[in-house]
Amino acid sequence: MNTMRRVLISLILLINWLNPVYSYELVLPKDKKNIVDTNYAFFVGKANKNEHITINDENVYIAPNGAFAYTVKLKNGENRILLKTDYNTHIYKFYKSEKQEAIKPVTEEIPPYRVTVKNDNTPLRNTPIDYGMNRISHLFEGTNLIVNGENNGFYRVKLSKDKEGWIAKDSVKKCEEEFFEPGKTFEPKFNTLNSETFKNGSSHTIEFNEKLPYTIEETEHEIFFKVYNPFVNEDSVYTITAKKPKKYYYKIALINGIYVFKVNSLPAHENKTLENLTITIDAGHGGTENGAIGCLGDKEKDINLLIANELKDILTQMGACVVMTRECDGYISLDDRVKIAKENCSDIFVSIHLNSIPDIEMNIHKNRGTSVYYYNNNSKDLAKAVETSVTNAIKTRKDGVRTASFAVIRPTDYLGILVENAYMTNPLDSMIYKSPSFPRDTAKGIAEGILNYVNTR
Ligand SMILES: [Zn+2]
Repeated sequence: MNTMRRVLISLILLINWLNPVYSYELVLPKDKKNIVDTNYAFFVGKANKNEHITINDENVYIAPNGAFAYTVKLKNGENRILLKTDYNTHIYKFYKSEKQEAIKPVTEEIPPYRVTVKNDNTPLRNTPIDYGMNRISHLFEGTNLIVNGENNGFYRVKLSKDKEGWIAKDSVKKCEEEFFEPGKTFEPKFNTLNSETFKNGSSHTIEFNEKLPYTIEETEHEIFFKVYNPFVNEDSVYTITAKKPKKYYYKIALINGIYVFKVNSLPAHENKTLENLTITIDAGHGGTENGAIGCLGDKEKDINLLIANELKDILTQMGACVVMTRECDGYISLDDRVKIAKENCSDIFVSIHLNSIPDIEMNIHKNRGTSVYYYNNNSKDLAKAVETSVTNAIKTRKDGVRTASFAVIRPTDYLGILVENAYMTNPLDSMIYKSPSFPRDTAKGIAEGILNYVNTR
């Protein structure tokens, strides 16, 4: 009996060995059973180029290097997806949970009271949603606010008669000082206001004996730093108006109760160099954080670093002072990347990435090429210049210049862009990024874009 069983097991193992179950390798999905809330299932992987693969009886294109990717639209509930090769059929199950309709909460009015911001860099938003692009400003720890409404986990913040903001409830605590009573005014002392203009911009200071909320507003030629004092009366807004240079960034600091607002203009360049510029190069991900995984199993962090190191050489040759957030394969937090750029007084910050599954759900084959992201409006032209030069250099499709709320490009302290050079999950792009000259060519493209931007009047 025992011998019989042994023979049987050996036979099964032999059959499996002769007829391999997997003649392809999938990067995605990771499992045969998946629970998702997305509208699509993505199949990303590699196969022998002579192999024939169908998914739900549709042919899957396999690039000459074996890379393939395929998108299947999901219906609610269970989806059975058949992946057939020349030898086998595999079933992948996707259970799509029905998305709940977003509840539209109504703002609940509450009696006004004072709260204090718990941490530095707390976003003040213009809607009660934790959504990236709705940030008005970033408040300092200890900023006192008046809140008078609640919605969706946020407090409505009174700034002035016609201006309000929203702040996450868990980012503030009840003010330790006197409880706010309507009708009672707190009158922080408004002290001094100084402005100085220098060669590459201007510096302005304003002092209060209390930390107050602020916003930044811009018109074509001017930039306004507004401090709100909702404790005194409905219209007490202190506005600093600064001239807006064509290429600029600005810094806001709070030092011993004094707000320092500094507008920097990028040094003028017409001599095809990057002299007097400090550029931080940020190779995305690293260490335990792989980033995207390509069809062929490549890790994004490795390719980002190759490009970053090439870019360092090229920018240095062009005369820039280059700062690297990482030069080897190690983990570094987003906060630390920003800190490095700020501490080195960077003029420009370039974050280097390769893209993966589209953020906006759509056909994986349409998502290929180079896209460049910015957060602050002043970085848009730089993003455009880099998209043009990179797509020229590596012959990728122009995938667009867009805004996105990535932590490394949110600060206003430098011109910040994030370049998604190609899609790791796109078979055609995989032919590009697997080329040995890709890191050097991409770096040349990025450098060219920066140079063109800096040297344009
Ligand atoms: Zn990335």
